[in-house]
Amino acid sequence: MTDIRDNIFNIKQIIPKKVTLVAVTKKKPISDIKLLYNYGHKVFGENKIQELIPKYESLPKDIEWHMIGHLQRNKVKYIAPFISLIHSIDSEKLLVEVNKRGEENNRIINVLLQIHIADENSKFGLTLQETENLLKNINKYNYVNIQGLMGMATNTNDDNKIKTEFNKLQKFYKKYPEYFSILSIGMSGDYKIAIDSGTNMIRIGSAIFENRN
Ligand SMILES: *Cc1c(COP(=O)(O)O)cnc(C)c1O
Repeated sequence: MTDIRDNIFNIKQIIPKKVTLVAVTKKKPISDIKLLYNYGHKVFGENKIQELIPKYESLPKDIEWHMIGHLQRNKVKYIAPFISLIHSIDSEKLLVEVNKRGEENNRIINVLLQIHIADENSKFGLTLQETENLLKNINKYNYVNIQGLMGMATNTNDDNKIKTEFNKLQKFYKKYPEYFSILSIGMSGDYKIAIDSGTNMIRIGSAIFENRN
């Protein structure tokens, strides 16, 4: 039986140095996170506030917590004091709220804009046009730092389709180097394709935590 430490080690061996691995710990116990933390991994992602808060509170404070899931505006206040990166800004209204909570906490909050690239209605995100409109207003937001883009490909076995979706996002990312330095694409099933498409941040859950024996 392989240990989750072996899984994360094996993934780190095959990804380029410039790629940040966010270990996605949703539905996983604190003991698993501690195991990886003690092994030297410090970057973790959660998709629900109600899981993120108790984990943040009970674990060492040098962990970098990433919020990767859909974020409701009324929950932003709970993570504003400590969150390292919010991947899931999917409306300007949410950005306004994050900016407000950043100001309240006197900290600039790092965020990514989530872009809708899949052909599934269930996935959240901005269109490219909405993103360009938002970038025109960027100077209004002094307490957020837009660092880049996040996307989720369609859940499919068709690698070419995934590649097309990732490449479309990568092209848009490249268009605004003055704003963007992080491209967060790639999960357990498609991170190798994402690496070919120029990702520098991957979000991996099941490939680390699933029991594969
Ligand atoms: C769960 C989740 C992941 C990780 O998915 P795996 O397929 O388990 O690697 C990545 N990003 C988001 C937004 C998620 O919710």
